[in-house]
Amino acid sequence: MIFLNWKANGNKNLIEEFKTLNLNTNFVVMPPHHLLSSKFGTITIGSQSVSQFNNGSYTGEITAQMLSDVNAKYCLVGHSERRNHYKENNESLSKQITNLINYNITPILCIGENSAERQNNTYFNVLNNQLSICRKECIIAYEPIWSIGTGLIPTNQEIIEIKNFIKNSYNNPKVLYGGSVNASNIKAILSTEVDGTLIGGASIKVDEVKQIQQIIQNR
Ligand code: PEP
Repeated sequence: MIFLNWKANGNKNLIEEFKTLNLNTNFVVMPPHHLLSSKFGTITIGSQSVSQFNNGSYTGEITAQMLSDVNAKYCLVGHSERRNHYKENNESLSKQITNLINYNITPILCIGENSAERQNNTYFNVLNNQLSICRKECIIAYEPIWSIGTGLIPTNQEIIEIKNFIKNSYNNPKVLYGGSVNASNIKAILSTEVDGTLIGGASIKVDEVKQIQQIIQNR
């Protein structure tokens, strides 16, 4: 499956352009919250984040029930940008996961080490800690922070190593790879037999998504 994380980008025109691509159910578009209630036609939609709280006096929050109301099927949990900018941690992320499961939305738990942790070989500890809140309903997205938006990608062998680690440690979840995926490298990345990819920067480029769709169809 291919998850398209638009981040804080996109508008109604971009949705109309995406509709012309006739994306099948292998693709999930994750627009900013204010667009989730727009007409996406047959496109499957997901959310980039969810509140740790349920409906109530939490100004500005988007709850799992609200995501369910707009028919979001998936939701990212613990994207590194949210861990970094909003100090999300295992405690709040674990509550998010519970809320999503209660509303039948599949949580995509994002995990990944930074470049120092990769270099000093502590990355397995980091990943282990992030995985400790995994539940059987979760998909795991392995997104090394040093790869997000940088054009740097782990070798296939490194991706396979982490994929096997996740699958063996935690109830054999589906594992996505994310970090600088685009139309030129997706074929090689999928040859590692990860279950899909999470795409950021390239996900708002309609022509690139079209190419990715063709590559997936021809596999
Ligand atoms: C992301 O932020 O989830 C991501 C994978 O970004 P990019 O594809 O731009 O590296």
